[in-house]
Amino acid sequence: MLPLEISVYKSYLETAAPKLAKPKGDPWKVDFDVLLKHYGSFLFDGWGTLYSKDIVYPGVLEKMAKLRSEGKNIRLITNAAGRSATQIRDDLRKMGLDFDIHEIISSGSLLKVLNESVGLKEAYYLGGSAGMEFLEEAGIKAVSEPLEPTVILSGIVASDAEIEQAAKVLSLPNSRVLVLNPDVYAPNPDGEKIPVTGAIAAALKERTNCQLLFCGKPFPLIFQVALRSLIPSTESVIMIGDTLGTDIAGAAIAGIDSALVVGRNVLEEDLRDDIYELGVSPNYVLPTPW
Ligand SMILES: [Mg+2]
Repeated sequence: MLPLEISVYKSYLETAAPKLAKPKGDPWKVDFDVLLKHYGSFLFDGWGTLYSKDIVYPGVLEKMAKLRSEGKNIRLITNAAGRSATQIRDDLRKMGLDFDIHEIISSGSLLKVLNESVGLKEAYYLGGSAGMEFLEEAGIKAVSEPLEPTVILSGIVASDAEIEQAAKVLSLPNSRVLVLNPDVYAPNPDGEKIPVTGAIAAALKERTNCQLLFCGKPFPLIFQVALRSLIPSTESVIMIGDTLGTDIAGAAIAGIDSALVVGRNVLEEDLRDDIYELGVSPNYVLPTPW
């Protein structure tokens, strides 16, 4: 992991689960068929695990067909907060991935729940236009100079002008950022890592000392919503993802098993160091293509 990933993901763990037990032993390298045999419900990360941008990874469609034919429960739990569940479903279909709306849990959809305790009416919104749906659901108006100095950060690569406006809003006392996608980096289809909202939030905090509030992995709410949706089949659940600090840390906090797809966000040769640095480990490792 890059130094920024380690420091940001460590800060998430300190906030969400300061007493999480340290991992014992190395994860098992397994074939996907082993997981298929032993688990009944599969929570999948999207970007970096099933697809990158709009390209589905080799072998994924076959694995999904197998899961479907064996009647497994499948959920996509994604930090792609800038898009509505309907848009995510339609984008997935274009790639050949068939998910029903109830099988897609997006971190953006949790804004409504988060705002029940925060009580925001207005905010400066940095995110895609489709993600506006989540603000409307939560009863929040998007304005450039909100009454309360609050920024909502969703899945977007922001322009310099937008970052400057966000920093201006956050320069006032008691400012805060609601981060709907805690990811620090996302791998491009060519493998290059690009900084995303978790990195932008960390930079805004550094600059303005604003408070950060999060929706999405690794924070517990998204996992609670996913597990609740599986009732009555909440046993033998596994999370499969490519990011140690969100997918795997989140699964550990939620108390469920996990498998890390290596070779994308985490390189196999870095895995031991990354586990040691972060203090979380998957139960299994899936080599790519998994
Ligand atoms: Mg991912």
